[in-house]
Amino acid sequence: FGLGAKVGKQPLDQNVVNKIAAGEIIVAPVHALKELLENAVDASSTSLEILVKDGGLKLLQITDNGHGINRGDLSILCERFTTSKLKAFEDLSSIGTYGFRGEALASISHIAHLTVTTKTKDSNCAWRAHYNDGKLVPSKPGQSADPKATAGRQGTQITVEDLFYNVPTRRRSFRSTSEEYAKVLDIVGRYAVHCSGVAFSCKKHGDSTAGITTPANATTIDRIRLIHGSPVANELVELSVQDEAYGFKAQGFASNSNYHVKRTTLLLFINNRAVESSSIKKAVEQTYSTFLPKGGHPFLYLSLNIEPSRVDVNVHPTKREVNFLHEDEIIERICDEIRVRLAGVDRSRTFMTQS
Ligand code: ADP
Ligand code: MG
Repeated sequence: FGLGAKVGKQPLDQNVVNKIAAGEIIVAPVHALKELLENAVDASSTSLEILVKDGGLKLLQITDNGHGINRGDLSILCERFTTSKLKAFEDLSSIGTYGFRGEALASISHIAHLTVTTKTKDSNCAWRAHYNDGKLVPSKPGQSADPKATAGRQGTQITVEDLFYNVPTRRRSFRSTSEEYAKVLDIVGRYAVHCSGVAFSCKKHGDSTAGITTPANATTIDRIRLIHGSPVANELVELSVQDEAYGFKAQGFASNSNYHVKRTTLLLFINNRAVESSSIKKAVEQTYSTFLPKGGHPFLYLSLNIEPSRVDVNVHPTKREVNFLHEDEIIERICDEIRVRLAGVDRSRTFMTQS
């Protein structure tokens, strides 16, 4: 009885829509952290400190020393599609910064309690604001939602608390907080290798030592050493290849034939964004198979820059997947470069033993 009357189609409440959309972009704490890291780098920060509690489910905090956010922008900071980085759709093809959708902070505010403390160079104090569901909210009931003046250094601190507090099924789906923390360390480690000139630290709440620390002046090899250890850092060859015809330039470091482990490590950046690519990974493993013993796998850090007009970053809201033109040819050129460098190392060794 009465059932028929209730199953008619109805538009979803806007907050429900936003919550669903947010849950698709941010599946685990690491996805929120990646967005926050990219924002901090976009803000020209040279120091990033990350604090994590319960794998990021209880707390994710990132403190940067970048240009900060103007007091006047705080009221719309977490509205969807507000970004300081993109004005026209055509800009998408020439965008140099990591962000462009203005969706990350909005999404996070729909599934967590978000606090922003920020100070620009020109402001004489810092401002703190709290957000829920895209809007400014008071820190305590009954108070004003307006940002409050506070003491602080230049830069921005973003605090994300109780991620998925209003998505109980998602919250329950996490089996272990240490698994989530490992994912957080992995992504921080990737950016810490890639972002020369930027100091990183990542710490679990309550720990006395940081899981990752890299000073701002560390070289790329130093960064690899600090995060992945000396055995691999001591056995690297430098890669550098470019081709104007395909509009790309690739640089990086690859392990030589003295080094091999059970699983490939591929730190891949396309236009300064950490991405995954099974086709690049497969081609690299294939290339190494003639240089390494059976079952041995390499380490590779690869920064690939492709003319923005040839890249489509807009394939998925998470931007984890990137499509680009002449993918096969570019991969082939990179693998050729790896072959040449690996052969070079072998030649020098043979030469030394012969002389
Ligand atoms: P997007 O990065 O796509 O622009 P976000 O939701 O990630 O969208 O961020 C919205 C805006 O907030 C950014 O465009 C930027 O102006 C500002 N912002 C976010 N994080 C920082 C930060 N750490 N430092 C300075 N500005 C920031
Ligand atoms: Mg962003």
